[in-house]
Amino acid sequence: MSLDVEAVRRDFPILATQSRGRPLVYLDSAASAQKPRAVIDAMSDFYAEHYANIHRGVYQLSAEATRRYEDVRVRVARFVGAPDPNEIVFVRNTTEAINLVARSFGDVQIGEGDEIVLTTMEHHSNIVPWQQLAERRGATIRVARIDDEGVLDLEHLASLLGPRAKILAITHVSNVLGTINPIREITALARERGVATVVDGAQAVPHQTVDVAGLGCDFYAFSGHKIFGPSGAGVLWGRMELLEAMPPFLGGGSMIETVSFEKTTWAKPPQRFEAGTPDIASVIGLGATIDYLAGIGMDAIDAWEHELLAYATDRLLEIPGLTIHGRAKDKAAVLSFALDVAHPHDVGTILDAEGVAIRAGHHCAQPLMEHLGVPATARASLAFYNTREDVDRLVAALVKTRELFG
Ligand code: PLP
Repeated sequence: MSLDVEAVRRDFPILATQSRGRPLVYLDSAASAQKPRAVIDAMSDFYAEHYANIHRGVYQLSAEATRRYEDVRVRVARFVGAPDPNEIVFVRNTTEAINLVARSFGDVQIGEGDEIVLTTMEHHSNIVPWQQLAERRGATIRVARIDDEGVLDLEHLASLLGPRAKILAITHVSNVLGTINPIREITALARERGVATVVDGAQAVPHQTVDVAGLGCDFYAFSGHKIFGPSGAGVLWGRMELLEAMPPFLGGGSMIETVSFEKTTWAKPPQRFEAGTPDIASVIGLGATIDYLAGIGMDAIDAWEHELLAYATDRLLEIPGLTIHGRAKDKAAVLSFALDVAHPHDVGTILDAEGVAIRAGHHCAQPLMEHLGVPATARASLAFYNTREDVDRLVAALVKTRELFG
């Protein structure tokens, strides 16, 4: 199935708007992706016609809202290859999912002198919760290296999975370099050594088919807003036997079985990890996103983005003085770059004046910036609604930036 990008673009109302008086070129989908009409409509329809709190009411509206919410869990499970819908925990975003695992799983599993293994290319969301855990428990953080192309050094990683290593937390796709890590191979290494694996899928799920069971990991986290869904709904997948053994993350309503002043008992997963009223409408929107993506086809999305990535890489490299950070062979459609004559923030500002939205900064990956020896990069991230014309506008704006600063 091939992708009709012009038809796709018509599904995203924002792509028909202007920025700085020019048609918008949106190249910041890695930060947050735009939303198709189907998602916007599903949420407004839910608020207009079907809204009530879930899991509580005996009346029709509440029962129906609960049915719709729980149905999204089933569709999400299918979308990411989770064997059991009850392994899908709704959270706000990837950050919350990783914090949940660090608290509920990490606090029990990690003790004095244990090691938590990360990689140089992690987002702060997959660094800070582990540092906090290490501090609470007296554990040590070890970091697997990457090479000059931005590819993970698997031998070094394997050498870190020694007897003290208990958890490996690793990104599936780097938000700066675009590198796609060979998660299946990595989880096999970890499993042989009894190390639990937590995969940050924030930048993978928007671009490719993900099969959590096939990947062989223990936990997998992603954000709805990066997969063209609403902000406020994210997903943690975890193996049921692990979830069942984990204490709750937050306490309150909906996550209990019984409460008395003497003792409270916990509900089974996933309810145990969903305290309080969730972002119900965003979960409904997430369901609409998944249906939309399934309709387009993740394989068609993957193929179009790879074509576009190859085109964008070639065109960017035509610009004198431009360096691309991250040249892995297995790479998602993220292009971080430096222009010799201008700071990334200046590049971002000039591009903005041309109606081209990119990101400039450390991308919540300061240790990676340090490794690259730069304070920041400019980053253009592509999605399946981007076109060759978008890339041409980016290149033209960069040529103009060079003329201004050069
Ligand atoms: N992990 C990666 C690789 C990311 O790119 C991001 C966001 O940019 C996150 C985690 C955090 O996602 P969120 O802000 O939705 O929690």
